[in-house]
Amino acid sequence: MPSDCLFCRIVAGELQSSQVYSDDSVVAIRDIAPQAPTHVLLLSRKHIASVRELTEADGPIMGKIVSAAAEIAKHEGIVEDGYRLVVNVGRNGGQTVDHLHVHMLGGRPMTWPPG
Ligand code: 5GP
Ligand code: ZN
Repeated sequence: MPSDCLFCRIVAGELQSSQVYSDDSVVAIRDIAPQAPTHVLLLSRKHIASVRELTEADGPIMGKIVSAAAEIAKHEGIVEDGYRLVVNVGRNGGQTVDHLHVHMLGGRPMTWPPG
């Protein structure tokens, strides 16, 4: 685990976060700067810098993250109205933390195209 990775430190419990879900592959926390009434970040437990670095050796991590999101959506009460899952990749994608994560945004209508 890179000791200077913010999300690795959150996954390890070294830094405080508002955790909403955890299993052996995924930890989900509330975003510190929410962009919607529900804004959850789904983090891989394993340090992977981004989806660009995903390999077959990482297994079905994205599937596990999406399944966890579907489960969390039930608890957040956003299943019926819907929500958005977002993965920012690299500089043009708007990624600011280099540790694999998926945003789950809900509780308001989303616009398209995204900015
Ligand atoms: P990215 O821009 O890399 O797709 O998303 C990173 C997200 O992490 C941002 O939405 C940002 O608000 C969130 N974030 C940054 N630092 C922290 C933190 O210390 N705690 C939590 N819970 N979220 C953070
Ligand atoms: Zn990390």
